[in-house]
Amino acid sequence: QPLAVGEVLSDAADRFTVQCEQKEIDLRLHLSDPLPRIYADRDQLDQVLDNLMSNAVKYTPEGKSITVTARRRFDGFVIIAVSDTGIGIPKKDLDRIFERFYRVDKARSRSMGGTGLGLAIAKEIVETHGGKITMDSRYGFGTTVRFTLPPCEPEVVR
Ligand code: ATP
Ligand code: MG
Repeated sequence: QPLAVGEVLSDAADRFTVQCEQKEIDLRLHLSDPLPRIYADRDQLDQVLDNLMSNAVKYTPEGKSITVTARRRFDGFVIIAVSDTGIGIPKKDLDRIFERFYRVDKARSRSMGGTGLGLAIAKEIVETHGGKITMDSRYGFGTTVRFTLPPCEPEVVR
């Protein structure tokens, strides 16, 4: 069933408002116009967003910000990005971050809790929907996870 991306993202943001308020994290949502509708399983897409946003909240200190954006790429694909200003990930770990159970720095991971499955599940879901997921991070400055999803209708090329 076709999904309106903006609605899915604002519902996801709503699920994190209380957690963000508690950490005094400024949660921003930027939706560009127009956004094509996408075919995706709503529960699975919610799962991806919850995994990415829970990481962003977990790994971002008090008083910082998280930005969620969506825009249409030139080829019609929708690009969704979850960006934080948190602790970041060292370059050497970035290649392996989507592996099951892979976690950066055992000490920090133990204190944070979790199993190391969130990103692996997100990748699995995005790829079964025909999209791609990538992560950019600067250690100590912040992290951005981007994923794409195909639009309902291919663009008409003129
Ligand atoms: P789970 O999601 O299963 O509860 P987790 O959050 O540790 O556990 P993933 O979501 O797969 O597992 O993330 C893997 C690792 O990547 C994390 O342990 C953390 O070290 C690092 N990481 C993920 N997202 C971020 C982020 N936004 N900022 C900094 N580090 C991150
Ligand atoms: Mg996680």
